[in-house]
Amino acid sequence: MVYDLLVIGGGINGSSIAHFAARAGFKVCMVEKNDFASGTSSKSSKLMHGGIRYLEQFQFHLIREALRERWIHLQQVPQRVQPLAFIIPVYEGDRRTLWMMKLGVLLYDWLAGKYKVGKHEFLSRQAVLERLPGLRPEGLKGGVLYYDAQMDDRALVLDHVHAARDCGAAVLDHTEVTAFIKENGRVTGAAVRRPSGETFEIHARKIIAAVGPWSNQLVHIDDTSSSDVVRLTKGVHLIYPARLAKEALLVAARHDRRIFFIIPWRESETLIGTTDTDFRENPDQVSVEEKDISYLLEETRRIFPGIRLEERSHIATFAGLRPLLRHEGAPSRVSREHSILETASGLILVIGGKYTTYRVMARDALRHAFGIKHLPDEIFSKNQRS
Ligand SMILES: Cc1cc2nc3c(=O)[nH]c(=O)nc-3n(C[C@H](O)[C@H](O)[C@H](O)COP(=O)(O)OP(=O)(O)OC[C@H]3O[C@@H](n4cnc5c(N)ncnc54)[C@H](O)[C@@H]3O)c2cc1C
Repeated sequence: MVYDLLVIGGGINGSSIAHFAARAGFKVCMVEKNDFASGTSSKSSKLMHGGIRYLEQFQFHLIREALRERWIHLQQVPQRVQPLAFIIPVYEGDRRTLWMMKLGVLLYDWLAGKYKVGKHEFLSRQAVLERLPGLRPEGLKGGVLYYDAQMDDRALVLDHVHAARDCGAAVLDHTEVTAFIKENGRVTGAAVRRPSGETFEIHARKIIAAVGPWSNQLVHIDDTSSSDVVRLTKGVHLIYPARLAKEALLVAARHDRRIFFIIPWRESETLIGTTDTDFRENPDQVSVEEKDISYLLEETRRIFPGIRLEERSHIATFAGLRPLLRHEGAPSRVSREHSILETASGLILVIGGKYTTYRVMARDALRHAFGIKHLPDEIFSKNQRS
């Protein structure tokens, strides 16, 4: 059998591409070498957001696009994506001053336009302390409040996997692409391997690789002489087993002035993250190091001086890799925009981007492969909604 499309990678990009292509009537096969959603798509900060910090980089187009996607998800998959209030406390000597923050939230809401989740507020010093008991009071000048959204990243991937299957796609986990099959220099399929040692071939008219941090490995399987296409940076999160605050906080780290989040998570936990450091090893070997934990604990203790974070055994951690378009520069300044590449042999790669804008990436990849111009705004058709 020859499929219309083979999708490699079962993260948010691969699963949504497989789903949307199958729904459009194409014969689709998707393969994932581990569990579905085991890669970056379950290691994110769980924010479906425009990315307020991209205002500093003047990435207004990216922010506006993401804010529209945020709104569509809030409307259509409220069981996976919910509004979340953020407070930014501002201290004396902060590089990002109170008036800059006020301007930032004004602009953020203005960019959202009709897709706004809730109206921002300017908060006095007293109002910040009332909302965030335990926050360090010394030097606090005031703050701002704005709205974004929080998602269950892993669950949303699984929704797309199930929806792809419901539309007739073959979806195979624990199936790794190890080589490409070529005719006259063009990819026509892939050789795959299962953990049992079983190997077989899958043939398809088009192949899209949505393998995130593994993109360099895939282009090398396609052509050993090709250059790297992504730069990887590692992001570590801690899950603290208690609520530190009712609202989420966005703060600048003292150590390197990077922005990091302290976010209420599940019923009674707090998600703290993230780090952002270059990573040059095998993506299969990403792990949390002691220095990552120390960085996050130290910064959290600075903000909530009274809390006890000593009992490290109670703190869960996870690490993910950001697959960023290859650029030089400090990691958090590297663009989060995406790109669709095609190698000389016709392998299509979806590179970069953010989780929030995965539908835009899926549309662009399917436009590239099959000339599909638009995807419906409806994420799951009625009988597929989970
Ligand atoms: C720390 C961190 C925080 C983030 N926070 C946010 C956030 O809050 N909001 C946001 O919008 N974005 C966020 N992002 C970005 C977002 O998570 C990623 O852009 C997105 O998850 C990438 O999805 P993907 O499907 O391309 O990759 P992945 O989810 O990594 O999926 C790729 C899959 O390909 C599989 N694979 C690899 N090689 C093969 C092979 N040879 N054969 C078969 N399968 C293969 C892998 O096993 C993997 O499951 C964050 C990223 C990181 C690292």
